[in-house]
Amino acid sequence: MADVRLVDIEKKYGNFLAVPQLNLTIEDGEFLVLLGPSGCGKTTTMRMIAGLEEITSGDIEIAGKRINDKPPKDRDIAMVFQNYGLYPHMTVRQNIDYPLKLRGVDRAARTRRVQETAEKVELEALLERRPSELSGGQRQRVALARAIVRTPSIFLMDEPLSNLDAKLRVTMRAELKHLHHELGVTTVYVTHDQMEAMTLASRIAIMREGRIVQLDTPKRIYSEPADLFVAGFIGSPSMNLIDGAIAGGVFTAPGVSFPVDQPDRDDVVLGIRPEDLEISTAPDAPVIGKLYALELTGESTLVTLRTGANSVCARGPADHEAEINAPCHFVPKPGARVHLFDRPSGHRLD
Ligand code: ATP
Repeated sequence: MADVRLVDIEKKYGNFLAVPQLNLTIEDGEFLVLLGPSGCGKTTTMRMIAGLEEITSGDIEIAGKRINDKPPKDRDIAMVFQNYGLYPHMTVRQNIDYPLKLRGVDRAARTRRVQETAEKVELEALLERRPSELSGGQRQRVALARAIVRTPSIFLMDEPLSNLDAKLRVTMRAELKHLHHELGVTTVYVTHDQMEAMTLASRIAIMREGRIVQLDTPKRIYSEPADLFVAGFIGSPSMNLIDGAIAGGVFTAPGVSFPVDQPDRDDVVLGIRPEDLEISTAPDAPVIGKLYALELTGESTLVTLRTGANSVCARGPADHEAEINAPCHFVPKPGARVHLFDRPSGHRLD
């Protein structure tokens, strides 16, 4: 068992409260992703778990034991951090081998293990080089290999794929997913990349200004965002968020009119994802405006219309063609989810 409990942990840098009173339990074997905008406290939280950052108050427990005062090397954690931390005087092979050597693994097993791991991260050809002779992405893969070469109680990974090109990133993502399936090691993972978060996580913690605003499965974060911040943060292109009011069971904004199951109120935001809208010619469509832009993405076309102050985007078929500024109508697809939020608080209403 290697669950991680953060109990009322707080981090102050001088007078600046970077993380206020955070409570979070990461279950044994879970893949928890911390996701949030730059500066929200993701790295600080990871560094506190690793023991690289002193906590101002609160407790950290691993497998039921308080470890506040344990040095990083005694926490049985393998980590990949943004600044790699490779040993410059060692070759790639020696860097990857080091955690095994430190734990007294015999030479034959080490050689085999280093080779297998180097293959996983596509570094076999570079084993005799030193870190200074590698690109940023290659160094990042050495750091990743050094972390996954053994099976620790916990993996901590802070943007481990951020310097890789798009193709390698997708390959490595699948490697990490497979590795987690094989080993079932409790993992805490920081990323800016929503796709990485959605595909890897068993649960995602969305952070904002040091606080967790939603902790949920990727599916629920996507389909039931707790507030406007999460709704706007997850999804690409992001959810359409339209300011308006509800009267007589209809949400209304300029060019927009949706039947909704909510009592009358002002200051409401209606949210609907681009993939939940389709292009229509119906004269009474709930969204009516003028075509503003067409963007072909390959598998689909992003269609943006303007109505009043609002832009609304729908994901249409790849072969969709239309004239800019022509009338444009959207209807919800069958089974589409319409979200409603209270504008002042940002909280979800439905
Ligand atoms: P990013 O995605 O940009 O890496 P993050 O979510 O990981 O951001 P942190 O690095 O945890 O954010 O930083 C959280 C807050 O604490 C930020 O406002 C940052 O400026 C501040 N901070 C981090 N380290 C220090 C430090 N050593 N001294 C003072 N403030 C710090």
